[in-house]
Amino acid sequence: MRIDIISAVPQLMDSFFQHSIMKRANDRGLLEVVTHDLHAYGINRYNQIDDYQFGGGAGMVMMIEPIDNCIADLKKQRNYDEVIYMSPDGELLNQKICNQLSLVENIIILCGHYKGVDERVREHLITREISIGDYVLSGGELGAAVLVDALGRLLPGVLNNESSALFDSFQDDLIAPPVYTRPAEYKGFKVPEILLSGNFPKIEEWRNQKSLERTKEKRPNLLK
Ligand code: SAH
Repeated sequence: MRIDIISAVPQLMDSFFQHSIMKRANDRGLLEVVTHDLHAYGINRYNQIDDYQFGGGAGMVMMIEPIDNCIADLKKQRNYDEVIYMSPDGELLNQKICNQLSLVENIIILCGHYKGVDERVREHLITREISIGDYVLSGGELGAAVLVDALGRLLPGVLNNESSALFDSFQDDLIAPPVYTRPAEYKGFKVPEILLSGNFPKIEEWRNQKSLERTKEKRPNLLK
């Protein structure tokens, strides 16, 4: 899978993609993330990418031309399944959307900044808009990083235990059961006996039970 991220401040994401699971995904050739600095497509000798909004009002708006040129440049090189704009009023990101998007080949993610992008970008250049929550960030970069992380870990071979993403919360509309590791007792705090029993069918049953209990308690909406 290849993901191209267009941003006015790509440096914000660099470190994130160079470590841990994102790095592993890249090293294994499973996920290629390429960031593009929109300033490289800026207009005039100032490489301008934003301007005042028509009609007046505070805040700069990202211009359509640099974004159009950047997307066009990328589209010359390969076909894209989706051109996503990170936006607080987009579809709220969830595991289902991540599962779906993890199956496609190439994605462009556009990060807004300032007041956001000229509306014509959204009308004509974008195929999908995604929000990471009902709050406003100062830029789309953290949102893009969230999306790429959530997608990347679903690609077969990225996580060491391939099946482990399947047992995470929200897959099957359930919250994951609690997990424990050594020591079996710490300051009198004990690990549930069943997990030390070696009785795997019983352990499986216990985990399913806990999953269900947790979902009822924490996210009853998932069970509907
Ligand atoms: N004026 C806009 C907010 C702009 S915030 C409004 O009121 O809707 C600047 C940029 O940050 C946006 O263009 C978007 O790319 C990004 N952003 C802000 N909040 C976000 C969220 N919850 N999810 C995804 N991207 C977000």
